Amino acid sequence: MERTYIAKAITCPGEKVLVQGFIDNLRDSKYMTFIVLKDITGKVQITIEKETHPELCDTISQLTGDSVISVVGEVQANDYVKMGGVEIIPSEIIIESIAEALPIVRKTIPATKKKPEVTRSSIDQRIDYRWIDLRTDENQLMFKVQTLMVNSMRQFLVEQGFIEIHTPKLIGAASESGADVFPVTYFDRQAYLAQSPQFYKQMAMASGFERIFEVGPVFRAEKSYTSRHATEFTGFDLEFSYIRSIDDVMDMEAKLLTHMLTAVAEKYGDSIKEAFGTEVIVPTLPFPVITLQELYKQLEEKYGYTVPEEEKCDLTTEAEQLSFKWVQETYGHEFLFVVGFGPEKRPFYHMRDKDGTPIGYDLIWRGVEITTGAQREHRYDILKAQAEEKGLSEDVKFYLEFFKYGCPPHGGFGIGVDRMTMLLLNVGIKEAMFIFRGPNRLDP
Ligand code: ATP
Repeated sequence: MERTYIAKAITCPGEKVLVQGFIDNLRDSKYMTFIVLKDITGKVQITIEKETHPELCDTISQLTGDSVISVVGEVQANDYVKMGGVEIIPSEIIIESIAEALPIVRKTIPATKKKPEVTRSSIDQRIDYRWIDLRTDENQLMFKVQTLMVNSMRQFLVEQGFIEIHTPKLIGAASESGADVFPVTYFDRQAYLAQSPQFYKQMAMASGFERIFEVGPVFRAEKSYTSRHATEFTGFDLEFSYIRSIDDVMDMEAKLLTHMLTAVAEKYGDSIKEAFGTEVIVPTLPFPVITLQELYKQLEEKYGYTVPEEEKCDLTTEAEQLSFKWVQETYGHEFLFVVGFGPEKRPFYHMRDKDGTPIGYDLIWRGVEITTGAQREHRYDILKAQAEEKGLSEDVKFYLEFFKYGCPPHGGFGIGVDRMTMLLLNVGIKEAMFIFRGPNRLDP
Protein backbone atom coordinates (compact mmCIF):
# COMPACT_ATOMS: atom_id res chain seq x y z
CA MET A 1 0.00 0.00 0.00
CA GLU A 2 1.29 3.45 -0.85
CA ARG A 3 2.02 5.89 1.98
CA THR A 4 -0.24 8.91 2.43
CA TYR A 5 1.15 12.07 4.05
CA ILE A 6 -0.78 13.00 7.19
CA ALA A 7 -1.83 16.41 5.85
CA LYS A 8 -3.54 14.60 2.97
CA ALA A 9 -4.88 11.69 5.04
CA ILE A 10 -6.87 13.97 7.36
CA THR A 11 -8.76 15.33 4.37
CA CYS A 12 -10.00 11.87 3.34
CA PRO A 13 -12.63 10.64 5.82
CA GLY A 14 -13.90 7.15 4.96
CA GLU A 15 -10.68 6.12 3.22
CA LYS A 16 -8.20 3.43 4.19
CA VAL A 17 -4.67 4.85 4.40
CA LEU A 18 -1.11 3.98 5.36
CA VAL A 19 0.50 6.75 7.45
CA GLN A 20 4.02 6.76 8.86
CA GLY A 21 5.87 8.90 11.35
CA PHE A 22 7.13 9.56 14.87
CA ILE A 23 4.97 9.14 17.96
CA ASP A 24 4.54 12.72 19.09
CA ASN A 25 2.37 11.83 22.08
CA LEU A 26 1.15 8.61 23.61
CA ARG A 27 -1.64 8.12 26.14
CA ASP A 28 -2.27 4.54 27.09
CA SER A 29 -5.03 3.68 29.56
CA LYS A 30 -6.84 0.50 30.47
CA TYR A 31 -9.43 0.69 27.70
CA MET A 32 -8.14 3.21 25.22
CA THR A 33 -4.86 4.23 23.56
CA PHE A 34 -4.39 7.57 21.87
CA ILE A 35 -1.34 8.11 19.70
CA VAL A 36 -0.51 11.43 18.10
CA LEU A 37 1.44 10.54 14.97
CA LYS A 38 3.57 13.22 13.32
CA ASP A 39 5.18 13.36 9.91
CA ILE A 40 6.74 16.34 8.16
CA THR A 41 3.32 17.52 6.92
CA GLY A 42 1.26 17.35 10.12
CA LYS A 43 -0.22 15.34 12.96
CA VAL A 44 -3.12 12.99 13.37
CA GLN A 45 -4.67 11.12 16.27
CA ILE A 46 -4.71 7.32 16.11
CA THR A 47 -7.42 5.94 18.37
CA ILE A 48 -7.47 2.34 19.56
CA GLU A 49 -10.29 0.86 21.58
CA LYS A 50 -8.53 -2.11 23.15
CA GLU A 51 -11.60 -4.28 23.53
CA THR A 52 -12.42 -4.16 19.83
CA HIS A 53 -8.74 -4.56 18.78
CA PRO A 54 -7.15 -7.13 21.11
CA GLU A 55 -4.70 -8.08 18.32
CA LEU A 56 -3.03 -4.62 18.57
CA CYS A 57 -2.51 -4.68 22.34
CA ASP A 58 0.84 -6.44 22.32
CA THR A 59 2.29 -3.94 19.84
CA ILE A 60 0.85 -0.99 21.76
CA SER A 61 2.44 -2.16 24.99
CA GLN A 62 5.88 -1.86 23.35
CA LEU A 63 5.43 1.70 22.09
CA THR A 64 7.34 4.67 23.49
CA GLY A 65 7.32 8.38 22.65
CA ASP A 66 9.37 9.23 19.51
CA SER A 67 9.26 5.65 18.21
CA VAL A 68 8.62 5.36 14.47
CA ILE A 69 5.58 3.40 13.37
CA SER A 70 3.52 2.65 10.27
CA VAL A 71 -0.24 2.58 10.68
CA VAL A 72 -2.87 1.20 8.33
CA GLY A 73 -6.37 2.29 9.19
CA GLU A 74 -9.54 4.11 8.29
CA VAL A 75 -9.83 7.87 8.52
CA GLN A 76 -12.95 8.82 10.44
CA ALA A 77 -14.54 12.17 11.17
CA ASN A 78 -15.15 12.69 14.88
CA ASP A 79 -16.15 16.06 16.27
CA TYR A 80 -14.78 15.15 19.71
CA VAL A 81 -11.22 14.89 18.41
CA LYS A 82 -9.43 18.16 19.04
CA MET A 83 -6.92 17.71 16.23
CA GLY A 84 -9.01 18.73 13.24
CA GLY A 85 -12.06 16.58 14.09
CA VAL A 86 -10.48 13.52 12.45
CA GLU A 87 -8.92 10.30 13.75
CA ILE A 88 -7.55 7.10 12.28
CA ILE A 89 -8.89 3.77 13.52
CA PRO A 90 -6.05 1.34 12.83
CA SER A 91 -6.30 -2.22 11.61
CA GLU A 92 -2.52 -2.66 11.71
CA ILE A 93 0.40 -1.03 13.54
CA ILE A 94 3.97 -1.87 12.54
CA ILE A 95 6.88 -0.84 14.73
CA GLU A 96 9.69 0.49 12.52
CA SER A 97 12.01 1.66 15.30
CA ILE A 98 11.66 1.90 19.07
CA ALA A 99 12.98 5.05 20.80
CA GLU A 100 14.72 4.87 24.15
CA ALA A 101 13.90 7.48 26.81
CA LEU A 102 15.03 10.83 25.36
CA PRO A 103 18.25 12.34 26.73
CA ILE A 104 17.01 15.94 26.37
CA VAL A 105 13.89 17.95 27.19
CA ARG A 106 12.91 19.76 24.01
CA LYS A 107 10.28 21.99 25.54
CA THR A 108 9.45 22.95 29.11
CA ILE A 109 6.75 20.69 30.52
CA PRO A 110 4.52 22.81 32.76
CA ALA A 111 3.90 21.73 36.36
CA THR A 112 0.77 19.72 37.16
CA LYS A 113 -0.85 19.09 40.55
CA LYS A 114 1.25 15.96 40.93
CA LYS A 115 4.49 16.84 39.12
CA PRO A 116 6.83 19.87 39.18
CA GLU A 117 7.80 21.69 36.00
CA VAL A 118 10.43 20.02 33.83
CA THR A 119 12.63 22.71 32.35
CA ARG A 120 13.85 22.68 28.79
CA SER A 121 17.44 21.56 28.21
CA SER A 122 19.89 24.31 27.29
CA ILE A 123 20.62 24.90 23.61
CA ASP A 124 24.09 23.34 24.03
CA GLN A 125 22.60 20.17 25.51
CA ARG A 126 20.02 20.11 22.73
CA ILE A 127 22.70 20.48 20.05
CA ASP A 128 24.41 17.37 21.45
CA TYR A 129 21.26 15.57 20.32
CA ARG A 130 20.32 17.95 17.54
CA TRP A 131 18.53 15.31 15.49
CA ILE A 132 16.05 14.80 18.32
CA ASP A 133 15.72 18.54 18.90
CA LEU A 134 14.98 19.10 15.20
CA ARG A 135 11.84 16.97 15.43
CA THR A 136 9.82 19.79 17.03
CA ASP A 137 7.18 21.67 15.03
CA GLU A 138 9.05 24.95 15.51
CA ASN A 139 12.37 23.60 14.26
CA GLN A 140 10.84 21.93 11.26
CA LEU A 141 8.95 25.12 10.45
CA MET A 142 12.23 27.06 10.70
CA PHE A 143 13.83 25.00 7.95
CA LYS A 144 10.75 25.10 5.76
CA VAL A 145 10.90 28.88 6.08
CA GLN A 146 14.63 28.92 5.32
CA THR A 147 14.00 26.82 2.22
CA LEU A 148 11.50 29.39 1.01
CA MET A 149 13.82 32.27 1.86
CA VAL A 150 16.68 30.89 -0.22
CA ASN A 151 14.44 29.60 -2.99
CA SER A 152 12.54 32.84 -3.44
CA MET A 153 15.81 34.77 -3.61
CA ARG A 154 17.21 32.28 -6.10
CA GLN A 155 14.09 32.52 -8.24
CA PHE A 156 14.15 36.34 -8.14
CA LEU A 157 17.73 36.40 -9.40
CA VAL A 158 17.38 33.68 -12.02
CA GLU A 159 14.43 35.58 -13.49
CA GLN A 160 16.73 38.59 -13.84
CA GLY A 161 19.37 36.69 -15.74
CA PHE A 162 21.72 35.83 -12.87
CA ILE A 163 23.90 32.73 -13.24
CA GLU A 164 24.41 30.48 -10.23
CA ILE A 165 28.05 29.55 -9.66
CA HIS A 166 29.83 27.19 -7.25
CA THR A 167 33.27 28.39 -6.24
CA PRO A 168 35.98 26.34 -4.52
CA LYS A 169 36.13 26.29 -0.75
CA LEU A 170 39.68 24.94 -0.70
CA ILE A 171 42.02 27.75 -1.59
CA GLY A 172 45.78 28.08 -1.94
CA ALA A 173 46.34 31.47 -0.32
CA ALA A 174 44.79 33.06 2.73
CA SER A 175 42.31 35.50 1.19
CA GLU A 176 41.20 39.08 1.84
CA SER A 177 42.82 40.07 5.10
CA GLY A 178 44.98 37.03 5.77
CA ALA A 179 43.39 36.75 9.23
CA ASP A 180 40.55 34.56 10.43
CA VAL A 181 41.16 31.67 8.02
CA PHE A 182 41.35 27.97 8.85
CA PRO A 183 44.49 26.31 7.50
CA VAL A 184 44.08 22.72 6.32
CA THR A 185 46.61 20.13 5.25
CA TYR A 186 46.42 19.65 1.50
CA PHE A 187 48.64 16.66 0.61
CA ASP A 188 52.17 17.98 1.17
CA ARG A 189 51.28 21.65 1.45
CA GLN A 190 48.96 24.01 3.26
CA ALA A 191 45.60 25.18 1.98
CA TYR A 192 42.85 27.28 3.57
CA LEU A 193 39.07 27.13 3.86
CA ALA A 194 37.45 29.98 1.96
CA GLN A 195 36.45 32.84 4.18
CA SER A 196 34.18 34.22 1.44
CA PRO A 197 33.56 33.65 -2.28
CA GLN A 198 34.53 37.27 -2.92
CA PHE A 199 37.51 36.75 -5.21
CA TYR A 200 35.77 34.17 -7.38
CA LYS A 201 32.58 36.22 -7.63
CA GLN A 202 34.75 38.96 -9.06
CA MET A 203 36.55 36.51 -11.32
CA ALA A 204 33.11 35.76 -12.79
CA MET A 205 32.80 39.48 -13.60
CA ALA A 206 36.16 39.33 -15.39
CA SER A 207 34.80 36.24 -17.20
CA GLY A 208 31.96 38.29 -18.62
CA PHE A 209 29.21 36.44 -16.70
CA GLU A 210 27.80 39.90 -15.78
CA ARG A 211 25.37 38.70 -13.07
CA ILE A 212 26.11 35.84 -10.70
CA PHE A 213 25.18 34.51 -7.28
CA GLU A 214 26.25 31.69 -5.03
CA VAL A 215 24.78 30.02 -1.98
CA GLY A 216 27.52 28.19 -0.12
CA PRO A 217 29.54 27.59 3.03
CA VAL A 218 31.72 30.32 4.49
CA PHE A 219 34.40 29.61 7.10
CA ARG A 220 35.61 32.11 9.71
CA ALA A 221 38.32 31.26 12.22
CA GLU A 222 37.06 33.82 14.73
CA LYS A 223 36.76 33.02 18.41
CA SER A 224 33.45 34.85 18.74
CA TYR A 225 31.02 33.71 21.40
CA THR A 226 28.09 35.92 20.46
CA SER A 227 24.53 34.97 19.57
CA ARG A 228 25.19 35.92 15.92
CA HIS A 229 28.57 34.43 15.00
CA ALA A 230 29.42 30.91 13.83
CA THR A 231 32.70 29.57 12.47
CA GLU A 232 30.92 28.04 9.49
CA PHE A 233 27.77 29.53 8.01
CA THR A 234 25.90 29.78 4.74
CA GLY A 235 26.47 32.85 2.62
CA PHE A 236 24.14 34.16 -0.08
CA ASP A 237 26.47 36.17 -2.26
CA LEU A 238 25.94 38.05 -5.45
CA GLU A 239 27.84 40.26 -7.82
CA PHE A 240 26.84 42.12 -10.96
CA SER A 241 28.48 44.20 -13.68
CA TYR A 242 27.93 47.57 -15.34
CA ILE A 243 26.47 49.17 -12.25
CA ARG A 244 26.13 52.94 -12.54
CA SER A 245 26.82 53.46 -8.83
CA ILE A 246 26.44 51.82 -5.43
CA ASP A 247 22.76 52.83 -5.57
CA ASP A 248 22.19 50.01 -8.09
CA VAL A 249 23.62 47.50 -5.61
CA MET A 250 21.53 48.79 -2.70
CA ASP A 251 18.45 48.88 -4.86
CA MET A 252 19.02 45.27 -5.95
CA GLU A 253 19.39 44.11 -2.35
CA ALA A 254 16.31 45.99 -1.13
CA LYS A 255 14.20 44.50 -3.92
CA LEU A 256 15.60 41.02 -3.36
CA LEU A 257 14.82 41.07 0.37
CA THR A 258 11.38 42.57 -0.17
CA HIS A 259 10.58 39.84 -2.67
CA MET A 260 11.76 37.20 -0.18
CA LEU A 261 9.83 38.64 2.77
CA THR A 262 6.68 38.94 0.68
CA ALA A 263 6.89 35.23 -0.15
CA VAL A 264 7.60 34.27 3.48
CA ALA A 265 4.79 36.46 4.88
CA GLU A 266 2.32 35.03 2.41
CA LYS A 267 3.09 31.38 3.02
CA TYR A 268 4.28 31.25 6.63
CA GLY A 269 3.37 34.60 8.26
CA ASP A 270 0.63 33.10 10.44
CA SER A 271 2.53 29.98 11.46
CA ILE A 272 5.63 32.05 12.31
CA LYS A 273 3.50 34.32 14.50
CA GLU A 274 2.02 31.30 16.26
CA ALA A 275 5.25 29.33 16.72
CA PHE A 276 7.76 32.14 17.33
CA GLY A 277 5.55 35.07 18.35
CA THR A 278 7.13 37.35 15.75
CA GLU A 279 5.58 39.28 12.92
CA VAL A 280 6.94 38.97 9.38
CA ILE A 281 6.95 42.55 8.15
CA VAL A 282 7.19 43.18 4.42
CA PRO A 283 9.36 46.31 4.06
CA THR A 284 8.54 49.30 1.91
CA LEU A 285 10.88 50.52 -0.83
CA PRO A 286 13.28 52.28 -0.86
CA PHE A 287 15.08 51.32 2.38
CA PRO A 288 16.33 54.27 4.47
CA VAL A 289 20.00 55.24 4.07
CA ILE A 290 22.23 57.16 6.49
CA THR A 291 25.93 57.93 6.75
CA LEU A 292 27.81 56.53 9.70
CA GLN A 293 28.67 60.03 10.86
CA GLU A 294 25.06 61.18 10.75
CA LEU A 295 23.89 58.02 12.51
CA TYR A 296 26.26 58.65 15.43
CA LYS A 297 25.05 62.25 15.58
CA GLN A 298 21.42 61.11 15.67
CA LEU A 299 22.06 58.44 18.30
CA GLU A 300 23.77 60.99 20.50
CA GLU A 301 21.02 63.58 20.10
CA LYS A 302 18.14 61.15 20.54
CA TYR A 303 19.48 58.62 23.05
CA GLY A 304 22.63 60.16 24.50
CA TYR A 305 24.86 57.50 22.97
CA THR A 306 28.46 58.56 22.46
CA VAL A 307 30.87 56.50 20.45
CA PRO A 308 34.51 56.17 21.58
CA GLU A 309 36.68 58.32 19.29
CA GLU A 310 38.77 55.35 18.07
CA GLU A 311 35.66 53.44 16.93
CA LYS A 312 34.10 56.26 14.91
CA CYS A 313 35.07 54.83 11.52
CA ASP A 314 33.11 51.61 12.16
CA LEU A 315 29.69 50.71 13.53
CA THR A 316 29.84 49.53 17.15
CA THR A 317 27.59 46.68 18.30
CA GLU A 318 25.72 49.05 20.65
CA ALA A 319 25.13 51.56 17.85
CA GLU A 320 23.98 48.75 15.58
CA GLN A 321 21.38 47.70 18.15
CA LEU A 322 20.31 51.27 18.90
CA SER A 323 19.96 52.04 15.19
CA PHE A 324 16.94 49.72 15.13
CA LYS A 325 15.08 51.92 17.60
CA TRP A 326 16.09 54.96 15.59
CA VAL A 327 15.05 53.63 12.19
CA GLN A 328 11.72 52.43 13.57
CA GLU A 329 10.97 55.77 15.19
CA THR A 330 12.20 57.84 12.27
CA TYR A 331 11.05 55.82 9.27
CA GLY A 332 8.76 53.09 10.66
CA HIS A 333 11.18 50.69 8.96
CA GLU A 334 13.18 47.65 10.09
CA PHE A 335 16.06 48.00 7.63
CA LEU A 336 18.79 50.61 7.53
CA PHE A 337 21.62 51.05 5.01
CA VAL A 338 24.67 52.63 6.64
CA VAL A 339 27.27 54.17 4.32
CA GLY A 340 30.50 56.12 4.76
CA PHE A 341 32.76 53.70 6.68
CA GLY A 342 36.46 54.48 7.12
CA PRO A 343 38.95 52.79 4.73
CA GLU A 344 40.80 51.21 7.73
CA LYS A 345 37.77 49.05 8.42
CA ARG A 346 36.93 48.05 4.87
CA PRO A 347 38.66 45.54 2.59
CA PHE A 348 41.13 46.74 0.00
CA TYR A 349 38.88 45.73 -2.91
CA HIS A 350 36.16 48.27 -2.13
CA MET A 351 36.29 51.19 -4.55
CA ARG A 352 36.94 54.54 -2.86
CA ASP A 353 35.45 57.92 -3.73
CA LYS A 354 37.51 61.05 -4.40
CA ASP A 355 37.78 61.67 -0.65
CA GLY A 356 39.10 58.17 -0.04
CA THR A 357 35.86 56.87 1.52
CA PRO A 358 34.99 53.29 0.55
CA ILE A 359 31.90 53.12 -1.67
CA GLY A 360 30.05 50.51 0.31
CA TYR A 361 27.48 49.86 2.99
CA ASP A 362 26.33 47.62 5.78
CA LEU A 363 22.67 46.69 5.87
CA ILE A 364 21.24 46.48 9.37
CA TRP A 365 18.03 44.54 9.98
CA ARG A 366 16.39 44.62 13.40
CA GLY A 367 19.60 46.05 14.84
CA VAL A 368 22.01 43.42 13.47
CA GLU A 369 24.24 43.54 10.38
CA ILE A 370 23.08 41.10 7.73
CA THR A 371 25.12 42.33 4.76
CA THR A 372 28.21 44.12 3.62
CA GLY A 373 27.99 45.43 0.08
CA ALA A 374 30.18 47.62 -2.11
CA GLN A 375 31.18 48.84 -5.49
CA ARG A 376 34.45 47.00 -6.21
CA GLU A 377 37.63 48.53 -7.52
CA HIS A 378 37.97 47.05 -11.02
CA ARG A 379 40.93 49.15 -12.22
CA TYR A 380 44.09 47.09 -11.89
CA ASP A 381 46.55 49.81 -10.86
CA ILE A 382 44.35 51.31 -8.17
CA LEU A 383 43.38 47.88 -6.84
CA LYS A 384 47.01 46.85 -6.66
CA ALA A 385 47.91 50.03 -4.79
CA GLN A 386 45.08 49.48 -2.31
CA ALA A 387 46.23 45.90 -1.70
CA GLU A 388 49.79 47.12 -1.17
CA GLU A 389 48.59 49.73 1.29
CA LYS A 390 47.12 46.90 3.41
CA GLY A 391 50.28 44.82 3.00
CA LEU A 392 48.47 42.12 1.02
CA SER A 393 49.83 42.33 -2.50
CA GLU A 394 51.70 38.97 -2.29
CA ASP A 395 48.73 37.06 -0.82
CA VAL A 396 46.33 38.34 -3.43
CA LYS A 397 48.61 38.15 -6.45
CA PHE A 398 46.44 35.56 -8.22
CA TYR A 399 43.35 37.71 -7.60
CA LEU A 400 44.96 40.86 -9.00
CA GLU A 401 45.55 38.98 -12.26
CA PHE A 402 41.76 38.88 -12.80
CA PHE A 403 41.84 42.62 -13.46
CA LYS A 404 44.73 42.78 -15.91
CA TYR A 405 42.93 41.63 -19.03
CA GLY A 406 39.69 43.62 -18.98
CA CYS A 407 37.02 43.74 -16.32
CA PRO A 408 33.72 45.67 -16.22
CA PRO A 409 32.74 47.94 -13.33
CA HIS A 410 30.79 45.92 -10.80
CA GLY A 411 29.49 45.59 -7.28
CA GLY A 412 27.77 43.12 -5.03
CA PHE A 413 27.04 41.95 -1.52
CA GLY A 414 26.92 38.95 0.79
CA ILE A 415 24.06 38.05 3.10
CA GLY A 416 24.33 35.58 5.97
CA VAL A 417 21.51 33.06 5.54
CA ASP A 418 21.68 31.93 9.18
CA ARG A 419 21.71 35.53 10.43
CA MET A 420 18.64 36.25 8.34
CA THR A 421 16.78 33.20 9.64
CA MET A 422 17.74 34.07 13.19
CA LEU A 423 16.49 37.65 12.87
CA LEU A 424 13.30 36.69 11.09
CA LEU A 425 12.33 34.24 13.83
CA ASN A 426 13.89 36.08 16.77
CA VAL A 427 16.12 33.21 17.93
CA GLY A 428 19.89 32.89 18.50
CA ILE A 429 22.27 31.67 15.80
CA LYS A 430 22.68 28.26 17.47
CA GLU A 431 18.94 27.71 17.17
CA ALA A 432 18.81 28.95 13.58
CA MET A 433 21.45 26.61 12.13
CA PHE A 434 20.87 22.97 11.22
CA ILE A 435 24.00 22.21 13.22
CA PHE A 436 25.93 25.05 14.76
CA ARG A 437 29.70 25.29 14.43
CA GLY A 438 31.56 27.49 16.90
CA PRO A 439 34.98 27.65 18.58
CA ASN A 440 33.94 24.86 20.98
CA ARG A 441 31.62 22.91 18.76
CA LEU A 442 32.63 20.36 16.12
CA ASP A 443 30.06 17.63 16.93
CA PRO A 444 27.67 16.12 16.04
P1 ATP B 1 30.30 40.88 11.64
O1 ATP B 1 30.70 42.33 11.67
O2 ATP B 1 28.90 40.65 12.14
O3 ATP B 1 31.30 39.97 12.29
P2 ATP B 1 31.40 40.75 8.98
O4 ATP B 1 31.53 42.21 8.76
O5 ATP B 1 32.60 39.93 9.29
O6 ATP B 1 30.25 40.47 10.11
P3 ATP B 1 30.98 40.04 6.21
O7 ATP B 1 32.35 39.52 6.08
O8 ATP B 1 30.63 41.31 5.57
O9 ATP B 1 30.61 40.13 7.77
O10 ATP B 1 29.95 38.88 5.80
C1 ATP B 1 28.72 39.12 5.17
C2 ATP B 1 27.57 38.63 6.02
O11 ATP B 1 27.76 37.30 6.44
C3 ATP B 1 27.37 39.39 7.32
O12 ATP B 1 26.67 40.58 7.13
C4 ATP B 1 26.55 38.41 8.12
O13 ATP B 1 25.20 38.37 7.71
C5 ATP B 1 27.19 37.10 7.73
N1 ATP B 1 28.23 36.72 8.69
C6 ATP B 1 29.48 37.23 8.80
N2 ATP B 1 30.19 36.63 9.76
C7 ATP B 1 29.37 35.69 10.28
C8 ATP B 1 29.53 34.71 11.29
N3 ATP B 1 30.69 34.58 11.95
N4 ATP B 1 28.49 33.90 11.58
C9 ATP B 1 27.32 34.01 10.90
N5 ATP B 1 27.11 34.91 9.92
C10 ATP B 1 28.11 35.75 9.61
